[in-house]
Amino acid sequence: VSERAERLVGLLDGAGIDVMLLTNLVNVRYLTGYSGTNGLALVGPETRAFLTDFRYVEQAAEEVEASFERRRAAQDLLSGIEELLPQGELRLGFEDAHVPVRTYARLRELLPERIELVPVTGLVEKLRAVKDPAEVQRIRAASELADAAFERLLAAGLVGRSEREAALALEVAMRELGAQRPSFESIVAAGPHGALPHAQPRETLIEPGQLVVIDWGAQLDGYCSDCTRTVATGELAEDAREVYALVAAAQLAGVEGVRAGRGGREVDSVPRQLIADGGHGEHFGHGLGHGVGLEVHEAPRLAQRSEDTLEAGNMVTVEPGIYLPGVLGVRIEDLVLVTEGGCEILTTVPKALRVVT
Ligand code: ZN
Ligand code: ZN
Repeated sequence: VSERAERLVGLLDGAGIDVMLLTNLVNVRYLTGYSGTNGLALVGPETRAFLTDFRYVEQAAEEVEASFERRRAAQDLLSGIEELLPQGELRLGFEDAHVPVRTYARLRELLPERIELVPVTGLVEKLRAVKDPAEVQRIRAASELADAAFERLLAAGLVGRSEREAALALEVAMRELGAQRPSFESIVAAGPHGALPHAQPRETLIEPGQLVVIDWGAQLDGYCSDCTRTVATGELAEDAREVYALVAAAQLAGVEGVRAGRGGREVDSVPRQLIADGGHGEHFGHGLGHGVGLEVHEAPRLAQRSEDTLEAGNMVTVEPGIYLPGVLGVRIEDLVLVTEGGCEILTTVPKALRVVT
């Protein structure tokens, strides 16, 4: 954690600011180590300050990186900012994606005129996109835990259980195996319901001969995992097997395309073309993948609209899907670590079509 604030300072000039105010708690955690729910940080060449209220003083003392000056705010945190800033004219950056209009107005009211408020986009998010070895280790552990929970779910069978019950069993398994929580609400979607990319598990029972899309992840030590598998609950119709094979081929092509230096758009293009060539272009409506870390969706993005370029240390998903409205859905998602020469797949669950009854 200690060198992260240093790396942020290196970006301040380019963003046209002297000091950065961090109020997004995920970014605060990334920079300081603090995992509580009220706190803010200030980072500049000569400023390393962390502010919280009396409820979190002890937690802050334990967690916050030693290079940060730790202060307890009298009332609301914003009123404690000014005294931590250097003298004279100052450009103070704030996180424009995370500061509500009301907070901005309050800040402007509290700070003297010498301090200019400058909106800044995605500075810490840019740092967070490149994982250090300790972060990779944590994500790997979260991913392994999620894989083990999935095997537990499949071992108990799917047919005759409701989607909701299966999703709950998966989440219980993750918690039992040590996860803090699921990294998002698990998806279990059988048959036609699988055609909704963000399906909510229903009370409907899973039947034999269906494709079941299962998308889940565990959060461990703050870090998330994300994985999707589609399994069969018995003999499938020919067209369902064909769709599965096409998504599996696209997923493989997607993984093969991941490497440092490639554009997020470029990586998305190859599997997308493959699915289009297979006649399902309009049935793959979302991007190929997204970054994963302290949040389950973060930079960089693999999509046609992405302007990101992959770097070694990025952690991304590769998750093509085909969704046939009213019929079925197939998605296969791996979590991969971007390396100079390609990528390393963290997910260990097999991708060949599995029959689970
Ligand atoms: Zn997922
Ligand atoms: Zn995902």
